[in-house]
Amino acid sequence: KPLVFSGVQPTGNLHLGNYLGAIRKFVALQANNDCIYCVVDMHALTAQLVHEDMPGQIRSITAAFLAAGIDPEKHIVFNQSAVPQHAELAWIFNCVARIGWMNRMTQFKDKAGKDREQASLGLYAYPSLMAADILVYRATHVPVGDDQKQHLELTRDIAMKFNLDYMEHIRRSGYGIDITVGDEPVHAYFPMVEPLIDGPAPRVMSLRDGTKKMSKSDASDLSRINLLDDEENISKKIRKAKTDPDGLPSEIAGLAGRPEADNLVGIYAALADKSKADVLAAFGGQQFSVFKPALVDLAVHVLSPITGEMRRLMADPGHIDNVLRDGSARARARAEVTMKQVRDIIGFIY
Ligand code: ATP
Ligand code: MG
Repeated sequence: KPLVFSGVQPTGNLHLGNYLGAIRKFVALQANNDCIYCVVDMHALTAQLVHEDMPGQIRSITAAFLAAGIDPEKHIVFNQSAVPQHAELAWIFNCVARIGWMNRMTQFKDKAGKDREQASLGLYAYPSLMAADILVYRATHVPVGDDQKQHLELTRDIAMKFNLDYMEHIRRSGYGIDITVGDEPVHAYFPMVEPLIDGPAPRVMSLRDGTKKMSKSDASDLSRINLLDDEENISKKIRKAKTDPDGLPSEIAGLAGRPEADNLVGIYAALADKSKADVLAAFGGQQFSVFKPALVDLAVHVLSPITGEMRRLMADPGHIDNVLRDGSARARARAEVTMKQVRDIIGFIY
């Protein structure tokens, strides 16, 4: 059975991009896979060291997972800091990864801003911890939004370099697996992860600027639809969403050079489980004054049951903490199997 891993940071209000790019896929993948879903609280320190309500943030992401339909009994839901093996493997990966690789990461450049010298070392090493999150379970498939594609390529580079550098030790350890890289058979320890990035809205853009991705950390609340927004808020934000003066085209090609229109059509398609072509077949030639209210109705229809369930779950923090405690214990047991083998491969005495 393929092993799926993914994570979400407790850095603020979850939004439609997190739902369409990540959480909705987490739910769908449960049917045919073994899944591990993580609230990556240690990653959240890279955004901001001191959080006013860290426990509340962790519980709110957990509640969103459960409200969206993730089953914490059949699969694993936990928070990263409760499984110290992530940090342990991340250190080893810090020694595997090259500074030249890290320097190419666009998320670091975006988040560090102009004064890069003042960014934390943690923000710089973020992708190494992310590789450890995935590979400490030797996971094979990672559902994420398009913005994380580069980090998953780096995860493959780290796995590949570890596999090559320790090739002889891996062979002697007996812990190796046979994988194919390109068409080449390779005896390896870590698998090559496959990113799962697809659908009509792999990167949901800001409602205020069609060239920037929708983000939890965007200062403008009008830029995103939060999973906890009520109908009135959703309606206001979509009505105010930036668009150009033209109506909707009848074909995909007509969306070229119109990032805001493209974004809204992609959101509609993803929420309706249709393709963008289907949406344009229905709305081509119409004005945004017709399309936007239809999008509001659809968004409210899809999101309001999740919002309601999230609120209900958040009223019982004890239950959420129990889910995390149980998930962490199961995750720790699995991560420790990998770490024992990694320590053996490297030659650490433990
Ligand atoms: P932050 O601004 O703090 O980085 P974020 O909104 O990017 O927050 P993350 O916790 O970093 O959220 O990412 C969680 C998941 O959501 C990842 O799989 C990421 O690829 C996905 N995701 C984030 N933003 C979008 C977006 N705009 N469109 C599609 N997927 C997204
Ligand atoms: Mg992010």
